Amino acid sequence: MQRILEFRYRGDPPPEWASDVRRLSFADMLSEAEQRRLVQLSRMFESVVRFDGRHGLEVEGPMRRVIILHACRLILALGYEPYRFVHRVTIAETTFVLETRDGVVRLHGAAESSGHLALSWSEVETGTEWDDDGRNVVYHEFAHVLDGYDGVVDGRPDVGGERERAIWTEAVGSAYQHRRRGKRCRQLIDKYGATSPVEFFAEATEVFFEKPIEMAEQDPALYEALKDYFRQDPAADLRAILG
Ligand SMILES: [Zn+2]
Repeated sequence: MQRILEFRYRGDPPPEWASDVRRLSFADMLSEAEQRRLVQLSRMFESVVRFDGRHGLEVEGPMRRVIILHACRLILALGYEPYRFVHRVTIAETTFVLETRDGVVRLHGAAESSGHLALSWSEVETGTEWDDDGRNVVYHEFAHVLDGYDGVVDGRPDVGGERERAIWTEAVGSAYQHRRRGKRCRQLIDKYGATSPVEFFAEATEVFFEKPIEMAEQDPALYEALKDYFRQDPAADLRAILG
């Protein structure tokens, strides 16, 4: 089915997608071919994923598209496959309230292994408007989807063979340990990333795409591991437009 969908969305994007892509703050970091690919993946996403709003919130086209475009930025070079189980995205105006044994928890986002994601619209707006603050709930929750695609949510996505897994463990594992001790990348990666390897990967993904030059300078091994996995080099793309 994926091939058929890929073929169906190969042509020129409809005007609403073309203008929404141009408005993305990272649009200039993408070549024309990459922008077309982003829209193609996004339209596939739109055709298979159901969006709904909590408490009567109406999820309008521009809201849906900004979420999809940011989600699909992560899979730009990976292809649609890692998102194949994503089937539903629920949007709340502000936060999701979760009742736990320890009391009420307010969440900005969540990703269930079933492929159902929850996002706070106010958090999406802030995260996507300021694309260089290292915070983006869409990148965060979809990083969890990528992490779980190989069947295990453990902070390591499907990076490839034994050699790649060893490099990942060395680079990302040691960056996580340093973050736990408050050392390397301490200003870059949010302290929430120190809670577990799973959250570290999600927080590091936010920084990789939003503050790539800083990450490449402060923790080149971590940056390289993420670059190899995502098959994207946002630091080089950003340097090219900054001149
Ligand atoms: Zn998380």
